[in-house]
Amino acid sequence: MTDADKPAFARAIARLAVALREKDPDAVMMRVYFDTLRDIEIEFVVAAAERIVTSGQWFPKVTEWRATAARVETERRQAHRALLSKLPTPLCDVCRDTGWMPHDDGRVSRCDCYELRRLEVLGRRAWPALPAADATVSQDADNVSRDSGTTCPPGQR
Ligand SMILES: [Zn+2]
Repeated sequence: MTDADKPAFARAIARLAVALREKDPDAVMMRVYFDTLRDIEIEFVVAAAERIVTSGQWFPKVTEWRATAARVETERRQAHRALLSKLPTPLCDVCRDTGWMPHDDGRVSRCDCYELRRLEVLGRRAWPALPAADATVSQDADNVSRDSGTTCPPGQR
């Protein structure tokens, strides 16, 4: 998270407090939680809070919030990787969607496509679309592009 994410973080922690009947978080608590979760992207922090709101019984310790955020990230990475594996051709010819660019001397480095794939995992960028026959697989969450402009002809899914 960055300082720009503080309003979104404040909304998430306030929602947790209301849902789990905790007194309103004060400034010290907000700062401790924010600083401890700072190295995690806001998308995972907020998604973890939503998960705790719907399944938790008590206001989370910051370590529990971190662990839930890590689970959310792992699940999204796995879903994203599963989607990439279903594509008929890799999105990236350089790394074949591994995220690692091979060099002549046998070493590897981060591929230029890594940031794009990362933005997709975060949900800041639309996920790659599968061919029509497999399209139903990618219809979960809000990660599917809503402005692709494609409509199905009658009689097809
Ligand atoms: Zn690549």
